[in-house]
Amino acid sequence: MFEGVEAYRELLTTCDFSPEEIDNELPRLKKAFDKAGLTVEDVKRCRERMITYFEADTLRGARMALGLHIRAFVDMVMAGEEHDVRIYGHLPLMAGHCVLGAAELARPDAYIGLPDLICHMVLGAFFNKLDPLLEASEAWCLPAGLAHCGCSQAKIGGRLTDVVPPATLHVSAGNYCDEAPKVDEVLAYHFKEPVVWCNRCQDESFDDPPMDDRHLKYFSANIRRTKDAISEAVGAEVTNQMIMQTMMATEEVGKEFKRIQDYRAESDPSPISVVTTDMAAALVGIDMTPRGLSKVAEMMKVLADEVQDRVERGVGVVPKGAPRVMYAYVLPFASPAVGKAFEEAGLNVCVREGYGSMPIWSRREEIAKLDPCDIVAGIFLHNPTLVKPRWRADVVVLGYNKAKLDGIVMLPHYSCRVFGTDFPMMRDMVRKELGDIPITVLETDVFDPRYYTAEQARTRIESFSEMVRAAKASAA
Ligand code: SF4
Repeated sequence: MFEGVEAYRELLTTCDFSPEEIDNELPRLKKAFDKAGLTVEDVKRCRERMITYFEADTLRGARMALGLHIRAFVDMVMAGEEHDVRIYGHLPLMAGHCVLGAAELARPDAYIGLPDLICHMVLGAFFNKLDPLLEASEAWCLPAGLAHCGCSQAKIGGRLTDVVPPATLHVSAGNYCDEAPKVDEVLAYHFKEPVVWCNRCQDESFDDPPMDDRHLKYFSANIRRTKDAISEAVGAEVTNQMIMQTMMATEEVGKEFKRIQDYRAESDPSPISVVTTDMAAALVGIDMTPRGLSKVAEMMKVLADEVQDRVERGVGVVPKGAPRVMYAYVLPFASPAVGKAFEEAGLNVCVREGYGSMPIWSRREEIAKLDPCDIVAGIFLHNPTLVKPRWRADVVVLGYNKAKLDGIVMLPHYSCRVFGTDFPMMRDMVRKELGDIPITVLETDVFDPRYYTAEQARTRIESFSEMVRAAKASAA
């Protein structure tokens, strides 16, 4: 055995590993942690953070989710030794998950993963040790101070430090921002690793209808091209049926997750922390293969049942009657302290942007006639959060009214071309509809915690909490 083995055992117990699994997995996990430069002290700190931020001491579903994240990290780091074929998706690949996940059905021994998100969750949120990756990329090709996003920096840093092994194929998301696909070109050029770009035309006007023919055809053709490139890389065809099977596995997770979201939106007091909820939800992007999704569905059901139990017992993470607010769109991945600060300031962060809108299902009959690549494209193009500010504002208004909220928190992502820019415009659009309601635009960075401190964010959050309480009291 090795020095500090008890700390590793305690961590894995906190992550719902059984004693037998711990005995079996420990050597492999230690090797992966060593490769990533994680020490015994890091392991101890990680466990403390899991309890402080993610309710690991009280929710088995949370422990299961943390365990799935840790397993995903170890699998990724060890993939170079354990798999001949490694296919990586890269953020913001929201549209391509099902195609990528389906590759497991074509080639069960291939490694399929999303290293960007795995690194941010495990090295960032759990270990608070993302800086070595960010700094490695800054020292090489993405200099500090030029607002390169931390997502891209961690991706390059992961490859430079060998935390992320070489890929057989990178699947790049040319469907949302300019930074990610350009940085992925560096992977192709410098590391000599093939990249396929899944592009979308991004020239829509505010007035274009959702999913018009031109956008749908262009995007679904790109998804088909991506599917062909993945098939070639794994040496077996990824079929439409495999994609459908993967989509259905995602649906299973979605059903259980919706139960949690509904309890959060409708219960007082709020039964589960927004930080725990987001951590569990991130697994849909990480364990995207049918095999992985079945484990996520199992975890999500346990978590949803525990949330239901808390609702029935009146147990909450913030006091009953706390002001209810929406957050738009994501809390920082690598810094759970920010989400926690809202709850510590007495706010019930009960819904996320998008709550109350399921426009894709309202066109179910039309969608059912499409082939899987069209459906994947349609799902993306129907997600207001990913497409246009006018539509996003409408959805925020809808969710605000439906959930009977008291305020809105907008979280621009400092170094993102897309999420960093449209919130002031959205705030004005929302105010036009809802009047002078409490809204704060709180600049953070989803991927790089060095751009702000949780203490600075906390001060702003506490002021916002006062503002919401005052508005709520005067409306009563
Ligand atoms: S954070 Fe923004 S700029 Fe960075 S990869 Fe994501 S969408 Fe692109």
